[in-house]
Amino acid sequence: MSDPAAEPAAEPVTAVARTDLLALSRDELTAWLRDHGQPAFRGKQLWAWLWDKGAADFDEMTDLPKGLRQVLHEQACIGTLTRTIEQQSQDGTRKRLYALADGKAVESVLMPYNDGRRTACISTQAGCAMGCVFCATGQMGFQRHLTATEIVEQAWRFDQELKAEGGRLSNVVLMGMGEPFHNYDNALAAIRRLNQDLGIGARHITVSTVGLVPAIRRFAQEGIQVTLAISLHAATDAQRSALLPVNKRWGVDEVVAACRDYVDATHRRVTFEWALIAGENDTPDEAHRLGRLLRGLTCHVNLIPLNPTKGYGGAPTAEPDAAAFVEVLGRYGVPATVRVRRGIDIDAGCGQLRERADAEATQ
Ligand code: SAH
Ligand code: SF4
Repeated sequence: MSDPAAEPAAEPVTAVARTDLLALSRDELTAWLRDHGQPAFRGKQLWAWLWDKGAADFDEMTDLPKGLRQVLHEQACIGTLTRTIEQQSQDGTRKRLYALADGKAVESVLMPYNDGRRTACISTQAGCAMGCVFCATGQMGFQRHLTATEIVEQAWRFDQELKAEGGRLSNVVLMGMGEPFHNYDNALAAIRRLNQDLGIGARHITVSTVGLVPAIRRFAQEGIQVTLAISLHAATDAQRSALLPVNKRWGVDEVVAACRDYVDATHRRVTFEWALIAGENDTPDEAHRLGRLLRGLTCHVNLIPLNPTKGYGGAPTAEPDAAAFVEVLGRYGVPATVRVRRGIDIDAGCGQLRERADAEATQ
């Protein structure tokens, strides 16, 4: 038996928990300042620094009195993520790895486009519980849900970086690590804040799901104009279940039926994602099956040649086979696009983020 006296003493608590200002709504920020003896207009000023100007340091906030800046230094912080790795591709793609406050790691990617769009691909969970066999995140298992603020902060940081360069973030895709609809409330709260606080147009936000049918149905009732993307990848249950274990719970027909109802309820087009895997789901037969499945549905199919990952032996489809797949879908009136990969030189451990951001941003 262990001797309690031999247990190490608990660490004395020295640090006072700081308030993360990015976690506060406009009203909460004003209330926090009021509690610190500040007039209401300071709330407006500080909000503008954080969300309009993208200030990352209290010292930049030169119209705030020195005393207040001191209080902020001591008792507040701007975000909780710590950047651990940053990479920049030849084509301008930027990849960031962050440590969360508890040390867990998440990744986000920024894609710049010639037409001026700047798209952030952000994570909603550390790891993922869905276990899709070809996915680097699925292979790592589930760690935890991100809070709404942790989700928003990834986009906020890119926006801040871009504002410092004279630009701004224009699009966000929730297609990074994790399944957004497994973390539904936080993902939805994040989407609303990206729109309302960070000013990203709802139509410039996309959320991607592996196909959690009850959540798709719930999402159809939220009354928001963001784009819904569904990771389909196979048109038969046997094949889809082998790639996406969650298909055993909600099969292909149920997922597509939920999408049809979503389109009816929202009048919005659904995006389907399909990782093209050589000899696996890229044959003409498979294209015909997909065409029959999606015929008449207001949708777009994004075909992304598989990004090889350590835990999965499949290979990406060659260009001519991808083009043939698109041609077959066209016969069913199903629009499809093969997405080019970007940021290939910094892709090392990522596996998936970049192509997805690309797919969304070039629609
Ligand atoms: N969990 C959500 C969103 C994150 S994954 C979802 O599954 O939809 C974003 C997209 O990347 C999904 O379509 C997923 O199937 C795809 N993906 C994952 N690993 C990939 C890989 N190795 N190659 C190509 N696409 C991949
Ligand atoms: Fe999770 Fe999406 Fe990866 Fe599947 S593809 S394991 S749902 S992150």
